[in-house]
Amino acid sequence: MSSNFSVASLGTPRIGPRRELKAALESYWAGRSDATALTETAAGLRAANWARQRSRGVTVIPSNDFSLYDHVLDTSVMVGAIPERFGWSGGRVELETYFAMARGREGQAVAGGVAALEMTKWFDTNYHYMVPEFAPDQSFSLVSEKPIAEYLEAKVLGYETRPVLLGPVTYLLLGKAAGMDPLTLLPGLLPVYEEVLRRLAAAGAQWVQIDEPCLALDLDVRAHDALRQATAAFARTAPGLKVMLASYFGPFGGNEATVLDLPVAGLHLDLVRAPEQLPLLREAPRGLTLSLGVVDGRNIWRTDLSAVLDRLMPLVGARKVEFAPSCSMLHVPIDLDLETDLDPDVAAWLAFSVQKMDELATIATAFAKGRERVADALAASNQAVRTRYASAKVNDPAVRRRTASVDAAMCRRPSPFEVRRRAQQERLGLPLYPTTTIGSFPQTSEVRKARSAHAKGAMSDVDYDAFIAGEIEAAVRWQEEIGIDMPVHGEFERNDMVQYFGEQLAGYAFTRHGWVQSYGSRYVRPPIIFGDVSRPAPMTVRWSAHAQSLTRRPMKGMLTGPVTMLQWSFVRDDLPRAEVCRQIALALRDEVVDLEAAGLAAIQVDEPAFREGLPLRKADWAAYLDWAVECFGLATSGVADTTQIHTHMCYSEFNDIIESIGAMDADVISIETSRSRMELLEAFVSYRYPNEIGPGVYDIHSPRVPPVGEMVRLLQKAAQRLAPWQIWVNPDCGLKTRRWEEVRPALLNMVAAARRMRAAT
Ligand code: GLN
Ligand code: ZN
Repeated sequence: MSSNFSVASLGTPRIGPRRELKAALESYWAGRSDATALTETAAGLRAANWARQRSRGVTVIPSNDFSLYDHVLDTSVMVGAIPERFGWSGGRVELETYFAMARGREGQAVAGGVAALEMTKWFDTNYHYMVPEFAPDQSFSLVSEKPIAEYLEAKVLGYETRPVLLGPVTYLLLGKAAGMDPLTLLPGLLPVYEEVLRRLAAAGAQWVQIDEPCLALDLDVRAHDALRQATAAFARTAPGLKVMLASYFGPFGGNEATVLDLPVAGLHLDLVRAPEQLPLLREAPRGLTLSLGVVDGRNIWRTDLSAVLDRLMPLVGARKVEFAPSCSMLHVPIDLDLETDLDPDVAAWLAFSVQKMDELATIATAFAKGRERVADALAASNQAVRTRYASAKVNDPAVRRRTASVDAAMCRRPSPFEVRRRAQQERLGLPLYPTTTIGSFPQTSEVRKARSAHAKGAMSDVDYDAFIAGEIEAAVRWQEEIGIDMPVHGEFERNDMVQYFGEQLAGYAFTRHGWVQSYGSRYVRPPIIFGDVSRPAPMTVRWSAHAQSLTRRPMKGMLTGPVTMLQWSFVRDDLPRAEVCRQIALALRDEVVDLEAAGLAAIQVDEPAFREGLPLRKADWAAYLDWAVECFGLATSGVADTTQIHTHMCYSEFNDIIESIGAMDADVISIETSRSRMELLEAFVSYRYPNEIGPGVYDIHSPRVPPVGEMVRLLQKAAQRLAPWQIWVNPDCGLKTRRWEEVRPALLNMVAAARRMRAAT
């Protein structure tokens, strides 16, 4: 292939086609296997990744994109940013310390164990990284030679790779440095990076990929200076080592002028998220090698190859280019060929990491040898595009007519909150400080066993239904017994809060092996929204109505909200996200109305992913928040004043979105507050949030049973800031990951705490 056109991969999935890494990690953590076994599995996965990429025509193969847990954590270990509490005293970082940073340590010696690093979302993806923690006197040194070792490991196997490093500026900006600007640590950090680059160069590396995805964010001059300093230092230290600077997930925006001026040999452009950067092919400095991210690394749709060629061919000219996915393929499943159960029509529209490499190879061949050489591949791509856009499975005129007829009145409750509140008070007759939970009860091994037996056909529908009915009945009886004012049915029938609904909606497809890393050894299989979404039949009415029939207390119906349904799926790329969300909202609206008709006086519509939908740049926030609020309203406004709408969000920062939370106008919102000791309420207090709030008083992330007094104190804090009638008493989140042995005493204590509050009023 002509050397002007190469095929690059910015990174591949680490988990293995059959989730081999998860199995190896969990067995190691459980003490069933030793470090050697884990290390061998990891090396095997790396070798397989390199082989797979080469066999698919990738010519620029990455190394050091692998991680046992997380690449940001790897970077912290590489530079020796290991907080004191992990007891590291220099030298090699053992696996035990590495995993303690990732997962915490429950040592006997230290009361309460050692807390893991915090975890948070990687930009706007569903991948979570371990947040670097910097001490005020943080120093850095080269502690792990992983990048060099993996480069050499590949070399021995016959692969000349381009090592990937998380860039120093993004690394610092992602970290937490109590009370100071993390960028002030750059001078101390750069020498470590320089040493890594020197060693890579000495080992024979010709290129290194430095990821600075912070370039997709709004950056100030200090960050620009930091990028200049860093790249200048690299150029000085390892002049022979070429740097491919990679940013993704959005355009450079206001960072563009700075970027184009940096002393690097190559620049990666995410042309999927930022097609407006295409003119850079003409405008970027001539000698710069451009990596063109033309295949979506974040989504699973087949690329329209002819369209890509039409767009690129007039622009590339004599420039050296690499054809690449828009970002690391970490975010997509590995191989579509493993999917044997997908509807063949839908499967024909998809490409996972392996198929994406094929697409890139096709593009490169078309450039090097002409389109005729790849005529078959182009014809297949054209055919897939045509059938997808024309398919009756994708286009449902009834759905389109319905979304087109949505008006503002459908997106808000007819009466103001004050009126609804009185109507609901009268109907529900709840005491002050009413108690409830967030929805799920423990998913015990019996529940999971029954579900998997039923899925495999080993348990009949009748037996499974009887089992679920029994679980619900026991949960309802127990809630009555301990005095929960607004019980829930417990969600025993649900495998997952998105999948359960997606499986019952038209327009959704599910994979068998389409796992994507969420964090560490936790992988998810996001549903695929391929077509117009509608609800062929009620989804939750049967179990909610059954639960309500067992008690006179008001049962709370339980749904996953439209934004969360969207956010945790692979979403079609031929419609605006807002429009897809509207379709889901309408389907949920029907469900809400049906639940009301079935006698449910309260319905909770969970939106835990509401905040994470926020775009990377502030300028884009308002547009998102507008349609997100509108869709929540659309889903929940079809009911009478007497029906109480709840929502739930399991986090934290509300300050910058509190007006939108207000505009959602749920009658009750439950939020996570117990870990922050009610500080999170501040946003609601200063906004004078007018509706009811359930600030979580029980931290469900810990097996600990909170004593009554502790919950009373939290509620007292809340009562200093809110009116007593506004306050609900509930845990932070659903209880599905806890055991009944923890949940029973904790909820007993919670009810006792509510009673004490009532007695004191
Ligand atoms: N109703 C869901 C549950 O209790 C909410 C889960 C969530 O917020 N992530 O499990
Ligand atoms: Zn939650």
